[in-house]
Amino acid sequence: MQAALVAARAAAVAAASRRLAQNTEAQASASRAASSLASSTPYAAPVIPSSAAVSTSHAQPCKCCFGAVHRMKHNQHGRSFSSASASESVVQLILHDHRKAEQLFEKYHAAREAAAKQKHAWALIKEISQHGAKEEMSIYPWMKQHFPETSGVVSHGIKEHQRLKEDLAALDKITVDDPRFDQTIQRVWKDLTHHIKEEESTILPQLEKKATAAELVKLGETFQQVEAIAPTRPHPHAPAEGVAAVVANAGAKIVDSMRDAKRSQEAKKQ
Ligand SMILES: [Zn+2]
Repeated sequence: MQAALVAARAAAVAAASRRLAQNTEAQASASRAASSLASSTPYAAPVIPSSAAVSTSHAQPCKCCFGAVHRMKHNQHGRSFSSASASESVVQLILHDHRKAEQLFEKYHAAREAAAKQKHAWALIKEISQHGAKEEMSIYPWMKQHFPETSGVVSHGIKEHQRLKEDLAALDKITVDDPRFDQTIQRVWKDLTHHIKEEESTILPQLEKKATAAELVKLGETFQQVEAIAPTRPHPHAPAEGVAAVVANAGAKIVDSMRDAKRSQEAKKQ
């Protein structure tokens, strides 16, 4: 049964890798002449209202996010998480992931039972790990390849991802009953908000300014396709760029899926 599961997962990963290779090739040959289709709407970085301007459902500020997550969810990019579609701009898909991660933090804080807190923390680890890998296999290499002048900001983004992966790995090793858990998830929250703020104010505006509307949709397709090989756990020692990252991610995804299956069995027992 386990072997069949692994074989099925390996086949899915192989198929996703093939699709990724085809898509990358298609992107490389995309005509630059389509630039006239570029969106005329300049990307605006999210405005995070001040705490005084937004009410939150918490009487006390959260220990970990100090209420910031409740403010951020009201920013101008808030949207329904069920509305992602196959023909959506990669920018919208990334914003969607960011809002989803914020919502998971909110659920973690709202939970009273240890088991519920653990469940939301595990979901958060999965969500953030996949999100970072999807970015590293889609927009980051694309921007470096097509717009070398953005390589500095992209490299900085990868460095920020690394810090997030290291803190997520520390969180992944302990459970909610560990006295270090709260402090560790606070670090993850800090890393994540930094990632979101920086990406939404630097990388995404540059991407939206430089890429055509058609390229943004194509990148959106890649962003969704690579989810099949995006690891669900942090791997701070794995490569984050190039073919090496794709190969490492595909392998890690298989192992992570097995670990996730074990984890969900444990969660059911609680
Ligand atoms: Zn992001």
